[in-house]
Amino acid sequence: MYPELGLYIDGVWLRGEGRVAEPVINPATEQPIADLWHATDADLERALLAAKRSFAAWRKVSPYDRSRILRKAAEILRSRRDDVALTLTLEQGKILAESRGEVDAAVDIIEWAADEGRRAYGRVVAGRTSDIRQLVVPEPVGPAAAFTPWNFPATTPARKISTALAAGCPIIIKAAEETPGTCVEIVRAFDEAGLPAGVLNLVFGKPAYISEKLIGSPIIRKISFTGSVPVGKHLTRLAADGMKRVTMELGGHSPAIVFADADPVQAAKVLVGGKYRNAGQVCIAPSRFYVEKNIEDAFVSAFIAETKKLKLGDGTEPSSTMGPMANSRRLDAMDSFVGDPTRGGDILLGGARTGNRGYFFEPTIIHRPSDESRLMREEPFGPVAPVCPFDDFDEVISKANALPYGLAAYVFTSSTKTALAASDEIESGMVAVNSLSMTLTETPMGGVKDSGQGYEGGIEGIEGYLNRKFISLM
Ligand code: NAD
Repeated sequence: MYPELGLYIDGVWLRGEGRVAEPVINPATEQPIADLWHATDADLERALLAAKRSFAAWRKVSPYDRSRILRKAAEILRSRRDDVALTLTLEQGKILAESRGEVDAAVDIIEWAADEGRRAYGRVVAGRTSDIRQLVVPEPVGPAAAFTPWNFPATTPARKISTALAAGCPIIIKAAEETPGTCVEIVRAFDEAGLPAGVLNLVFGKPAYISEKLIGSPIIRKISFTGSVPVGKHLTRLAADGMKRVTMELGGHSPAIVFADADPVQAAKVLVGGKYRNAGQVCIAPSRFYVEKNIEDAFVSAFIAETKKLKLGDGTEPSSTMGPMANSRRLDAMDSFVGDPTRGGDILLGGARTGNRGYFFEPTIIHRPSDESRLMREEPFGPVAPVCPFDDFDEVISKANALPYGLAAYVFTSSTKTALAASDEIESGMVAVNSLSMTLTETPMGGVKDSGQGYEGGIEGIEGYLNRKFISLM
């Protein structure tokens, strides 16, 4: 049911042999499901040397041949889709339908990267004299170190691994210790697809120790991290010492603005789907709901009615539509948002933990909390939804832009003029109007302000792993 875990270093799976182990916990039952081995210092050294050695050969493999291996890995992963989805649900908690969708998306991402590697073109710049040829040539930046979180254990590693490999960069990935099985399955697919030893390495352990060691090594030339803002800033500082390239996909607190000319019932339906997906543990989840005053009542009623339809339960139960939180830290965080003395407003639904085992928290709606409350200023990353009214365009844009985050934003309106004006004014890496459609494989994902730096996905993603060398020939 759940895969045997291991470290994958220089083409070899490593387990036990005196290494420290930590249990992996099923968040729906709080029961241990496997032992995860921590990499030793010698393991990390070995991974670094493998990445260095394999870079010389991998950068010379043609994009066409790299692409074939990536496509093969995608095919293997696709053939195991349901098993990997079950692994994902057992370790992370999200419902099986979401896990299956995530594995499908991971396959799609790997296939996209396979093709983007083949399309990583250079260019010819006209010389100032007829005897000169000027070339701009893409080159892989070098071995990458990547760190991925527990909320999307399939798509986040798939994106970092496949983009690095497509660009010609070896990669050492430290996936989240709380959700290691899915990444083990992804790495296994690459291994079986014939990836040369050393090009892909998977490690686990104490995050701070591993990131310091890898980022501090002169072998690593590129850092990619998805996770919280404080950790992202810390890793960026470490990277600065070695002038290493970084891609940072950090947190958000995404405003969802519903203007009076939108259909409040339809908007509520769509937004409830986005808010409670993965129990709210999604960096781009709509998480601050601003509704124009004259449709506030209609929106709130519809939002409550739609939220009440959610069926909280173990993600492996077909009837569940929302699973537990991924870890007990999120439960504590939800308690602290609800119990915050500066919170204000009224709890319209939920507000507490539920069940006698598992990390379950009720879908919660808080009406009119104060702008100063923690819920309105900090990323909730959970199933607590604050809903607030607004009077006019300028007021709501200024509220939307008031936080240091700038990842995603959502606008509901039937006016093209309002849609364009809001899209222009909101400080955010991504804006979706009248839907939740963003972070597709073929579109760039990235934040502004504290939400990050650089892009993943789209034609932009591979640029993070390429240098552009200028060559002038006379
Ligand atoms: P956290 O900030 O300690 O960890 C976030 C992730 O970063 C984890 O996967 C962790 O393993 C990793 N990490 C932590 N310290 C690290 C280090 N020094 N080097 C390398 N990796 C490190 O806290 P958490 O409790 O896991 O999550 C808390 C908050 O993180 C959430 O509330 C949310 O805001 C944010 N988060 C964001 C995303 C995202 O998709 N952007 C994903 C997960 C968590």
